[in-house]
Amino acid sequence: MPDTATHFQQYGMKKHDARRLHYDLRLGWNGVLKSWAIPLGPSERTGERREAIQVEDHRREYLSFEGVIAKGKYGAGTIMFWDIGMWRPLSECADVDASLRNGYLRFTLRGEKLKGIWILKRRPDKLQNEEKTIWDLVKEPDSFARNGHPGDILEEAPNSVSSGRSLEEIYRHWDKPPRKPKSDGTLFDMQISVAR
Ligand code: MN
Repeated sequence: MPDTATHFQQYGMKKHDARRLHYDLRLGWNGVLKSWAIPLGPSERTGERREAIQVEDHRREYLSFEGVIAKGKYGAGTIMFWDIGMWRPLSECADVDASLRNGYLRFTLRGEKLKGIWILKRRPDKLQNEEKTIWDLVKEPDSFARNGHPGDILEEAPNSVSSGRSLEEIYRHWDKPPRKPKSDGTLFDMQISVAR
């Protein structure tokens, strides 16, 4: 059964240090994560459009991933789980599939960092790139908008929502798979040396 708009869905935002730093918006829908790459990251100021390049749907299991993807692999670079929460389309966009087809999705975010009403609006055909579909992410004027307030959420809350780490710390602490002990003898020797 398809999702209905009365339910809140999974939302997440990644911060991704790839060839170029960008943010990755993830909206859970019909068993996948609809995905956009946002080069400048979201702005909470009404009227500040942020380019959002639609990329392929991602698997839901990847929403919470934080770590380092090796060079040469898809998504190579350090990935931070920057924001987590729920999203829901507003009533006029209750048919989410139609809204995505029509290029206009108005929705509420209940994230740890981003909140309130946002719009994803696809750019008209004449402004499209041949290879990628380009949208804009814009904040609606509501009590969560930063209009008239100083500051920037990207600078005020730059770290991971799950680990509290910065990109640099995630990179530094990225655990390599544990190596198997060489032999029981090695472990035994280690116990001896600890016991001393
Ligand atoms: Mn990315």
